[in-house]
Parts: sequence; C-alpha cells; structure tokens
Amino acid sequence: TPIAAPETRAIDSLCPYCGVGCQTTYHVAGDGPETKIVHVVGRDGPANAGRLCVKGRYGFGYPRHAHRLTKPLIRKPGIAKSVDLDPANPLAAFREANWEEALDAAAAGLARIKAQHGPHALAGFGSAKGSNEEAYLFQKLVRTGFGTHNVDHCTRLCHASSVAALLEGIGSGAVSNPVRDVEFADVIVVIGANPAANHPVAASFIKNAVERGAKLILMDPRETPLARHAHRYLQFRPDADVTLLLSLACVIIEEGLTDDAFIAARTEGFDAFRAAALAFPPERVEAITGIPAETAREVARLYAQGPNSMIFWGMGISQHIHGTDNSRCLIALALMTGQIGRRGTGLHPLRGQNNVQGASDAGLIPMMFPDYQRVSDPAVRAKFETLWNTPLTDKPGLTVVEIMDAALAGEIRGMYIEGENPAMSDPDLAHARAALGGLEHLVVQDLFLTETAMLADVILPASSLMEKTGSFTNTDRLVQLSQPVLPLPGDARPDWWIIQQIAQRLGLAWNYAGPAEVFEELRQALPAYAGITWAQLEAETAVVAPKFTEDGPSYPVLFEQDFPTATGRARFVAVAPLPAAELPDEAYPFVLTTGRVLEHWHTGSMTRRANVLDALEPQPWCTVHPDDLAALGIESGATITLATRRGAITLAARADRGMQKGSIFMPFCYVEAAANLLTQPALDPFGKIPEFKYCAARIRTEETV
Ligand code: SF4
Repeated sequence: TPIAAPETRAIDSLCPYCGVGCQTTYHVAGDGPETKIVHVVGRDGPANAGRLCVKGRYGFGYPRHAHRLTKPLIRKPGIAKSVDLDPANPLAAFREANWEEALDAAAAGLARIKAQHGPHALAGFGSAKGSNEEAYLFQKLVRTGFGTHNVDHCTRLCHASSVAALLEGIGSGAVSNPVRDVEFADVIVVIGANPAANHPVAASFIKNAVERGAKLILMDPRETPLARHAHRYLQFRPDADVTLLLSLACVIIEEGLTDDAFIAARTEGFDAFRAAALAFPPERVEAITGIPAETAREVARLYAQGPNSMIFWGMGISQHIHGTDNSRCLIALALMTGQIGRRGTGLHPLRGQNNVQGASDAGLIPMMFPDYQRVSDPAVRAKFETLWNTPLTDKPGLTVVEIMDAALAGEIRGMYIEGENPAMSDPDLAHARAALGGLEHLVVQDLFLTETAMLADVILPASSLMEKTGSFTNTDRLVQLSQPVLPLPGDARPDWWIIQQIAQRLGLAWNYAGPAEVFEELRQALPAYAGITWAQLEAETAVVAPKFTEDGPSYPVLFEQDFPTATGRARFVAVAPLPAAELPDEAYPFVLTTGRVLEHWHTGSMTRRANVLDALEPQPWCTVHPDDLAALGIESGATITLATRRGAITLAARADRGMQKGSIFMPFCYVEAAANLLTQPALDPFGKIPEFKYCAARIRTEETV
C-alpha cells in the first residue's frame, strides 16, 4: 500500500550551512513539540535561483536529533574536564539546572574572574552560524561587560588572512562581486578552493558559465571535481602558491599585458610589486611550482586579456603562514590588469559559514569594532563609547589561537563560547583541549554536547537556524532573514536572549525586545548596513550591503569609481615566497592537508547528526595517491594510522589519482579521527590564521604502528 505523504505547510527561511546563502522553503508537518521537517526545496533567491545542494536539501535532521540539548547543564563537582566521556552516557558529567540557576552560575564565574584578575583574563568566541544580531550582541557583551577586546570567531581559522590583505590592499574585506557575476565573466580563476564540495550551488553557476563559453582555470594541488570543467587545470606543488602567482604576474608584466591606465589612475605601490614579480619568470620556477612555463604563460595571458576575468579563492590560499601574501598576489593580479570594478571581474574569497561575513561585519574580531573600525583608533573608540554609553579599553584583543596560548599560560582564566567548537576546529587539538580544560570557568552555549561543551562548567542550550528569526549575510554581501520553522525543543532558548541574560547579570542595562530592535542599533554601529531596515528585509527577503542610506543604492559590484582607502587608491604589496612552517623529512615524508567534504560541514556537529548526510559519509577517511599506497603495501580502503609530530589517528585510506604523490588529504569533521590532533599551530603573522593546509605526516599500517 503506498504511504500517503503527510500534509505539510511551507515556511520560508535559509539554509544553515555554507556562505552561498541559499533561500529555502521548509515543508513541515505536525504541531508543537511534534513539528518536524518533511522536506526542503530551494526558493528563487538571488544567490541560488531555486537550487540546493545535498546539505541544504537533506541536512535538516539535526535540530531534532536525540543528542539535542534541551536543558541547561552544570558540571557536577569533582568531575575532571575531559573530552573522553562515557560514550553511553556523556551527560553524566553534568546535572540539569533551571535557567535562573544556570545563568547565575555562568555570569557569576565570569564576574569573579574579572574582579580577581581583571577584564583581560576573560575572552569570548562568538559564532559565524548565529545571526548578525547575535554576533553584534556577543561582541558588545565582551567589550562592554567583560571589558576586553578578546573576542573572535572562526573567521580566524578560514579567511582572516584574506581579509587582512583585502583591507590593506583595497580597503574592504568583503567580496567585490557576487558569485553569479560569472554569468558576465570570460575567464574564471578558482584557486585553492573546492566549491563543488564546499559551495556546491556556487559551483553550479560556474559550470553554467563554462557551458556558455567562459574559460575556467582551476589551480589546486589536489584535483577536485571542477577540474573536469576546466579549460586548464594547474596542479601546482603544495606550498608553491606564492611562487606560482608571482610567475603569472611576471608574465603579465614581461608581455606588456598590464592595464597601465588603471594602475596610474587607481593604484599605488606598483613599482615595488613589479620588481618582486619580475624575479619569478615561469621558466625559472617550473621545478618549484610543477607547472610548465608555457602553461603558466598561457594562463596569465588568458586572465589578463579576459576581457572580463574573475578570481575565486578558498582556504587553500588563506590557511598558510603565507596566506596574506597569497591574497596580496591575487589582489595584485586584479589591479595590474584592471580586472576589478566591473561586472564579471573582481575578487571573491568564498566565505565558509552561512554568516561568517555578517559576524565579521558585526565586530566579532579582536582588533575591530563593527564595520572593521579599528579599536586602536581613539576617534573610533570614542564613537563606540558614546553609542554604548560606557568606557572601552584601548588594549588590543587576542585572536583565537592566541587566546588558547594565553589560556594555557594562565593569563586567560574564563571564557564564554557561543556556537563554536574549538576543541575540534583549532590546530594541534591536544594543546587547544588542554587550554580549554584548564580554564577556571568555561560557559558554552550550543545545540549539542560538542567536544568544547564537554569541557564546560555551564552549558546553555541554544537555538538552531531553523528555530530563530535573524539576519544573515552571505558571501555575496546579501543580507537575508531566517524565520522559525520549528519550535525550540524543551528549555532551549534563542541565542540573543541568552546573551542578554548574561549581560544583565554582568550589570549591563540591556532590554532588547527581540532581533528587530537589536538590528536597529546594529545599523547605527555599521555604516554599511545603515540604509537597510528590518521592514525592507521582511519585504524583499534579500538586500545587498553596503547600503549607506535608506534612499540610496546598494552596491552588488564594488570599486567602480574608487577604493575605500585613505587615498581612494588600491595598494600593491610586494611579497616574497616563505616556506611552510613544517616541511616533510625522513621521519614524516608526506604533506598533510585538511579540508571539508560535500556531505559534512566543518566539525560535523550538525551534519553528523543529520541522518541522511551521515549515512552517505559515516566513517573517517583520507585520500592518498594509489602509487604511494602501493609503495607502502596498502590496499585502498585499508585502515591506516596517520601520524604527525603532534598525534596519531586511525582511519581508512582511499586511493585517489587526483592526489599528488607525497600528499594526503583528510576532512576535519570526524571526532573519532580528529584531523586537528595532527595539524600544527604556526600562524600567518598578519591574519593570525593557522597553517591547516600543510604539515609533515607519515602513514603506517596497523601492523607496523
Ligand atoms: Fe546550503 Fe551552501 Fe548547499 Fe546552498 S550551497 S544548499 S547554502 S550548503
């Protein structure tokens, strides 16, 4: 007998995963606590035109997973802090509490540390998965309630180096053109990114552009699915990215393909960059990059001559100790050829989380207030002191990894972590977990008992995107609204409400009625959002930032006339190649790179609890070139031990001809084989981003361990 489909009602909202920001319609059945999502379809939003990927379409199960936290929890006395909890009953380390008790305990611990050790003994991590309003409130709480700028979020682990280079070079950390500008591009460069897995709907528009006739140039040490669609695929050696990009710039200069009028009218600093690039002709660096000189020359010509050429990049560019230099080179390529400021051109760092752009805009950054206004600038500080009616410190804040170091050194003693999982996402996890576990007081606000929550003193059950109203800013700078699709389970609460409750207990006179009222204040703090109203978001579903006045225009394409720098000109920055922090050697002969996989999202706390997605990719794995496996006598699919100087994990090895010999790739979503137990914490000096994309590793079979 055919099973009748349940009757459903349709509710419009957003996908909770990547920065593409697909608009969705959730079809739900049932009422009250029994409400459930039956299926999801794409809406005709500006970023997705009705499309969804496997995560958006099938990854909706996690809000109702049995692991969902529905009560505030307080650690039982005498229970040691550890991520190795009893798998049969991990909650046994905690006892349930009511909200009053949990909030009082959370705030009292933070207040005690501030009173005893000063404001800078506290720190907070906000969330790129929360709304703009939540991010704004969180950074305001840390700055005005804690009294420190020690506030950061996962942008530090993904595109902090890109943002550092973009702010320095062109005065804005956001993308210059939306993804769908590929419709106007003749040449599309994708470097250090795997959008087919991580931004699949964006990848679908790139494939459409190729079908129309655009030439795709893919550059990546690992052959990813977009290579099948590429006009040229450049499999450069890991760590040779700056050299390769300088060699492309060298060709453009040598062959007279620069846009001299653009350089003269709109930029500064070209002579120093020109001198640096000319030292890297492709013929001289072939052996370093692995790219034949004639291929490099052809690609450089294609990009420069477009006529319209666009660059996308991802964490293959940013997650290096030379991540900022990589982005400086990409910016220089666009500036020297005038490939910016028009449709179908420009620079697009593909943002990871669904609201990492908005969380950064809203000020979850230690060195910047909302809208990238520097905390070191006395005039800016004075402005925020007036807006927030409180004095603000001039001491610069620490970044994610610096906070972990300070915690381990006993300088940071208390933390509030909302919707982030540094006990899985930080490099060198043994170090990060020791730092978190050693805190005197840790408050974690999340959906699940994440590895970070396992180390908490107080756990506050929060809201998923499917249960909240809020604005989210996608990779294209589109501000879009979510609305509740499901009721909150048990005693879980909206994140903005929880942050406000903590603020009130720290003596702040906050009394926001809801997200719309927070957004009103956010507009005053962010000039780029000043022209966007809540009513407009409700009516139009998507509004492009920046929009400076309510009657003024939005700017889908930036920099048509000038750059938002002090001089109005963009700036070239000369760079030189810098080797990775840890090179392969006899003991650790492989290069390990970590990343994401189509079916799972970041540390897996959501997608591993979305049953369809977890059924598709349920177990940890890595990929290795088949010749490397054969040389080690390992069959594809066999269990191996993967080790670095920081740790060892056990997982399956898959043969993949897209890998370069001597390299290994693995996703970081599997807690049972946590990739970040292996990664190393060396930082880019400008963006302070760890080098997730390169460390030395070795492979052993179970027998030889
Ligand atoms: Fe969600 Fe990104 Fe997939 Fe769109 S492309 S459905 S936003 S994960």
